[in-house]
Amino acid sequence: MSGALAREVDVVVVGASLAAAAAAKRLTDAGLEAVVLERKKLPRHKVCSGILAPRGHRFLIENFGPLPREILHEPTACRGVSFHFPRAPSISMDFDGGPTAHLHRRYADHWAIQRSGAEVLDGTTVVGVVDDGSRVTVNAQRDGEALDFRARHVIGADGPVSVVVRSVYPEYRKSIPWFWVGQKFHEIESCPLDPEYFHFWFHPDLGHYTWSHARDGRQIVGVGFEQGGNFDAAHARVAAYLDERHGVRLRPAAASEGSPENFGPSLVNRYVFGRGNVLVTGQAAGFLNMMAEGMSCALHSGAIAGESVIEAGLRGRPVQEVYRLMVASEVRRCTDQWNPIKIAFERPHEADFRASLRQLRTPDQMRLLLDVWSFLRLYGRFGWGGQMLAQAGYRLLRDGYDPRRWL
Ligand SMILES: Cc1cc2nc3c(=O)[nH]c(=O)nc-3n(C[C@H](O)[C@H](O)[C@H](O)COP(=O)(O)OP(=O)(O)OC[C@H]3O[C@@H](n4cnc5c(N)ncnc54)[C@H](O)[C@@H]3O)c2cc1C
Repeated sequence: MSGALAREVDVVVVGASLAAAAAAKRLTDAGLEAVVLERKKLPRHKVCSGILAPRGHRFLIENFGPLPREILHEPTACRGVSFHFPRAPSISMDFDGGPTAHLHRRYADHWAIQRSGAEVLDGTTVVGVVDDGSRVTVNAQRDGEALDFRARHVIGADGPVSVVVRSVYPEYRKSIPWFWVGQKFHEIESCPLDPEYFHFWFHPDLGHYTWSHARDGRQIVGVGFEQGGNFDAAHARVAAYLDERHGVRLRPAAASEGSPENFGPSLVNRYVFGRGNVLVTGQAAGFLNMMAEGMSCALHSGAIAGESVIEAGLRGRPVQEVYRLMVASEVRRCTDQWNPIKIAFERPHEADFRASLRQLRTPDQMRLLLDVWSFLRLYGRFGWGGQMLAQAGYRLLRDGYDPRRWL
C-alpha cells in the first residue's frame, strides 16, 4: 500500500528500541540524517526483565552517558545470576566487573533514543519496505493514513515479530520455531530468593525457560513455552514448585503479560541480516542469546548496522558485504555466550560459571552436570542440541583450543 511521500532521508530506522538507538547514534554522529519510526506512542512498554549484561551496561554509559535513576527499576542493580537445578544445589555467579543495571525499558529505551540525536516519529507503523536497488521505500501508517518514507538505507530494528524481516524474507517466519514467554507479577508474602540476583531454573519438567526475580516490591515468575502452550498451567506449575522447593510464598498474580519470541536462531547460527539496502539488526536479526539476554547484543549489533552504512559509503562497497563482515564478532559472541561446550572449555560469558562449579563438592558437581545435560535434551527435539555442540566444537578446534587450559 503506497501513500504520500512524507520524507526523503539518508536512513530510516524501524523501531525505537535499544538496537535502533545505537544504530541512530552512530548515523547521526557521522552527520547522516536518520529518522526512527516507532509504531507505539513513546515512552512505550516492553516486556522484559531489564537485566542488562555488563557489556551492554558499559555500552550505554559510554555512548549515552550516566544512567539516570528514572530509567531503572527497584532494585536498581543486579549482582548476577543464580542457577537452580532439580537435584544439584543452587549456585550464584556475580557478573564480571560488579553489579549491572536493572533497566526500566519504558524509560530506558526512550532515554537512549532521545539521546541518539535522530528524529523520532512515534505512532507510525511500518507495514512494508521495497528496495528498488538505489532507494528503499518504507510504507507506513500513521493515524489511519498511509504515508511513505524514502531512504538510501533502512535498518530494521523492529524486534522479534519484524515487518522488515517479513518484507525481505517472506518465508523466514515459518522456518523457525516460535516460543512464548509469559510473566506474572506477585505481591510477596515471603521470598528467600536473593532479590539482587536473576534466578533461572535448569529443570526440564518446568520448561525450557523458567525464571524469577524481584521488581519494584513484587516478585516476577516467568515461563517460556512453545506456541500454543498453556501459560496459566505452566505458570501454576512453576509457582507451586517455587513454594515447595524454595519456600517462595506469593499472593495470586496481580498482573500478567507475555510475548512471542524468536528464541533459537542464535543458538544454531540462523541469523538474518537483510538484503540490498535493507539491514536487519537486534532481535529481529536473531540476536537473543541462550539465556534470552537480548539487550546487550541489540545495542552492539545496532551500532554495527549504523557503522556499516557509514563504512559502506566511505569505502564504496555494498552495505551487505560490509555489515556481514563487521557483525561477525557479535554473531560469535551471542552464539557462544551460554553455549555449554564453550562454557565447559572457555569463558564466553560475563560471569564465572566454572569458578562457582568448583566450589561444590564433587558429587554435587556431578549432579549439576547431569541436571544440565537432562535440561539440554529439551533442545534436542528442535534438532538444535547436535548443531550447538558441533558448532562450538568446530570453533574450538578452528581457534586452536589448547586442552591444557581446562586443567
Ligand atoms: C520476558 C522477557 C524478559 C527478557 N529479559 C531480558 C533481560 O533481562 N536482559 C536482556 O538483555 N534481554 C531480555 N529480554 C530480551 C530483550 O527484551 C530483547 O532482546 C531486546 O529488547 C531486543 O531489542 P531490540 O532493540 O532488538 O528490539 P525490541 O526491544 O523488541 O524493540 C522493537 C521496537 O520496534 C517497534 N516495532 C515493531 N514493529 C514495528 C513496526 N512495524 N513499525 C514500527 N515500529 C515497530 C516495537 O514497538 C519496539 O519498540 C527479555 C525478553 C522477554 C520477552
